[in-house]
Amino acid sequence: LADRLQNTIKKITGKGKVSEADVKEMTREVRLALLEADVNFKVVKDLIGRIKERAIGQEVMESLTPGQQVIKVVKEELSDLMGGEQSKIAVSDRPPTVIMMVGLQGAGKTTTTGKLANYLRKKQNRSPLLVACDIYRPAAIKQLETLGAQLDMPVFSMGTDVKPAEIVQEALKEAKANHNDYVLIDTAGRLHIDEELMGELQEVREVAKPEEIFLVVDAMTGQDAVNVAESFNEQLDVTGVVLTKLDGDTRGGAALSIKAVTGKPIKFAGMGEKLDALEPFHPERMASRILGMGDVLTLIEKAQSNIDEKQAKELEEKMRNMSFTFDDFLEQMSQVKKMGPLEDLMSMIPGAGKIKGLKNAQIDERQLSHIEAIIQSMTKQERIDPNIINASRRKRIAVGSGTSVSQVNRLIKQFNDMKKMMKQMTNMTKGKKGKGFKL
Ligand code: GDP
Ligand code: MG
Repeated sequence: LADRLQNTIKKITGKGKVSEADVKEMTREVRLALLEADVNFKVVKDLIGRIKERAIGQEVMESLTPGQQVIKVVKEELSDLMGGEQSKIAVSDRPPTVIMMVGLQGAGKTTTTGKLANYLRKKQNRSPLLVACDIYRPAAIKQLETLGAQLDMPVFSMGTDVKPAEIVQEALKEAKANHNDYVLIDTAGRLHIDEELMGELQEVREVAKPEEIFLVVDAMTGQDAVNVAESFNEQLDVTGVVLTKLDGDTRGGAALSIKAVTGKPIKFAGMGEKLDALEPFHPERMASRILGMGDVLTLIEKAQSNIDEKQAKELEEKMRNMSFTFDDFLEQMSQVKKMGPLEDLMSMIPGAGKIKGLKNAQIDERQLSHIEAIIQSMTKQERIDPNIINASRRKRIAVGSGTSVSQVNRLIKQFNDMKKMMKQMTNMTKGKKGKGFKL
C-alpha cells in the first residue's frame, strides 16, 4: 500500500500521546491507500468509521501506548475485512467429500489441486482422488497426472473427448470403489470469463454436488482478481477462495477486497510452485504485511544521507569482522542520533522485530545520555573487550556514571544483542551483490 500510509504509521507508533488530529491523519491515509487499491468505496467508508470510533474512544486514549493501540485497531479491522481464520475444509457425512476448483486459465487451479491433495493427506490423513476435467488442453491432463505421480496419488481422467460432467460421474464411482474420501476436481479455465465456460462448470457442479467450490485467483493480477472473483461467485456461488502466487511481489490489495466484495472467505494462500507451498490464509498476517512491510530502501537512503561515507565503510568493515567495540557503539550513537528516533529505524528493518532479545532491548531515546555516561566510565580495555567486565567492574562503572548496576547490565546485554543482530544482518546481505547494509 501507499508509502505515505507507512510513514504515518511510523510517526504514530512512537508517540506517547495520540491526538484526535493524529487519528484523523491516520485514517485519512488508510482511506486513501484502500481507495488506491480499488477497494469498494462503501467498504472503505465502513472500515474507516469503525477505526475512528475505536481509535478516538477510550480503548486507545486511555491506554499506555496509544500510538501502538491505534495501529492495533487498524490491523484488527483490516484482518476482519479479510475475514476471520477460515481454513477449515468441509467434510461430507457421506464420503467422498467433493471439492471443485474453478478459476481463470493460469490462476493455479491444477497446481492447487495437487497442493490441496498433498495438504489433505499430510494434515488430515485423507486419501484424495484427483480428477482431470480440463478437456481443452491435453497438456492439462498430463500436468495433473504428473502431479499425481509425484504425490503417489491416483488421478482419474478420460481423455479429451468426454464431457466434464460425465467424467465426474465416473470419477465418483471410482472414488467409492477405491475408498477415496476426497475427490478434487480440476476444471478448465479461460483467459476471460465466458458463458460457455460457466455453463460447463454449472453442469459439473450439478453432477458433483461439491461440498466446496474453491475459486483460485492469482494475487498478482491485483484488482482484476477482485472482478474475476465477483463474476465467478455470482455464477457458481463459490464457498471459498484460494489466493495464489502470494510469494510474488504482491501487496495484498486483492486480498483486502475479495472477502469484502464477494463475502467469501480466503481459505488458502499459494506461496510457491512446489507441492507443499499451500498455507491456510491468515488475515492478521496479511494485515501486518500490508501495514508493516519493512522499508529497507528508505532505511538505506536515510543512513547514506546522514552518515559520512568513509565512516560508514569503516563501520561496515568492523561489523563484518566483528571487531565492533563500545567505542564504535558510542560513535555510532552520535551518528544515529542525526537520523532520528531509533525505534523508527528499527521498524524499517524487516524481521528486526523477530530477532530474539531485541524486543526487550528497546533503546529508549531518553536513555541515550545514560548510555553515553556508562560507556565513558569504562576503561579502554573494557570498551574493546566487554567480556572482561565482571561484577566488581560493573559496580565501579555504575558508580562512575551515576547509574545503577542493572542499567550497566542492561547496556552490556543490549550491546551483545546488537552485535548478534549485526552479524545476522551482515550474513543476510553478504550474499547479495552490490553494497551491503550500512548503518
Ligand atoms: P491453471 O491454468 O489455473 O491450472 O494454472 P496452473 O496450475 O497450471 O498454474 C499456472 C502457473 O502458475 C504454473 O506455472 C504454476 O507453477 C504457477 N503457480 C501456481 N500457483 C503458484 C503459487 O502459489 N506461486 C507461484 N510462484 N507460482 C504458482
Ligand atoms: Mg490447469
